[in-house]
Amino acid sequence: MAHVIVVGGGPAGLSAALFTQKNGIETTVFDTDKTWMHKAHLFNYPGIGSQDGTVFLDTLRRQVEAFGVERHEAEVTDVSASDDGFTVTADGEDHDADYVVLATGANRGLAESLGCAFDGDVVDVGVTMETSVEGAYATGAMVRAEEWQAVIAAGDGAAAALNILSTEKGENYHDFDVPGDADEVFSAMADEE
Ligand SMILES: Cc1cc2nc3c(=O)[nH]c(=O)nc-3n(C[C@H](O)[C@H](O)[C@H](O)COP(=O)(O)OP(=O)(O)OC[C@H]3O[C@@H](n4cnc5c(N)ncnc54)[C@H](O)[C@@H]3O)c2cc1C
Repeated sequence: MAHVIVVGGGPAGLSAALFTQKNGIETTVFDTDKTWMHKAHLFNYPGIGSQDGTVFLDTLRRQVEAFGVERHEAEVTDVSASDDGFTVTADGEDHDADYVVLATGANRGLAESLGCAFDGDVVDVGVTMETSVEGAYATGAMVRAEEWQAVIAAGDGAAAALNILSTEKGENYHDFDVPGDADEVFSAMADEE
């Protein structure tokens, strides 16, 4: 099974992790919990109404964990390309990954040391969020000089994940669920109670 490592656990990183793990790709998130979301109150995230940023993040963390994402509070100090993917160093330990999703907010140092091309001050990506380094993605505030909005960051993370899923599955991939899927999940939960 492919393995994705996400660096950064704000809306961009957790959104990427949600989509990859939910669709069968083992996903690990490293985060230092300095997300701007702790300073925000959301009135502009469609479908949310009015919500404290930390509350939003708590829900998102529980959501990714429910699908099996492994979350670690640890600083990533290095990301390097290896023969068959990437080596990510967190708290002095090396971890292998087939893909890496950088979602480090305003901190762009890891993208720079990995050798990703920049456009001015921001990491250069297209709509797939893949950087100039194959298999390495950059998402959220780090790829934008402005447009610092949670919903945009989450969309960037989803775009990166869908591109990874399409690459792995060899065809364009959509993460579509229908009401019957929810009925199945909720009836399974009711059976467990
Ligand atoms: C005061 C304030 C109010 C805001 N209000 C709103 C609002 O009302 N609505 C709205 O849409 N947006 C708002 N925002 C913006 C919103 O918070 C950001 O757009 C959003 O958080 C960006 O998401 P992100 O995932 O790109 O980065 P972040 O949320 O910043 O997450 C990056 C994460 O990466 C982690 N990280 C960084 N480097 C490393 C490393 N080396 N190893 C491991 N982890 C690392 C950080 O600790 C952090 O948790 C506000 C921002 C501020 C500052």
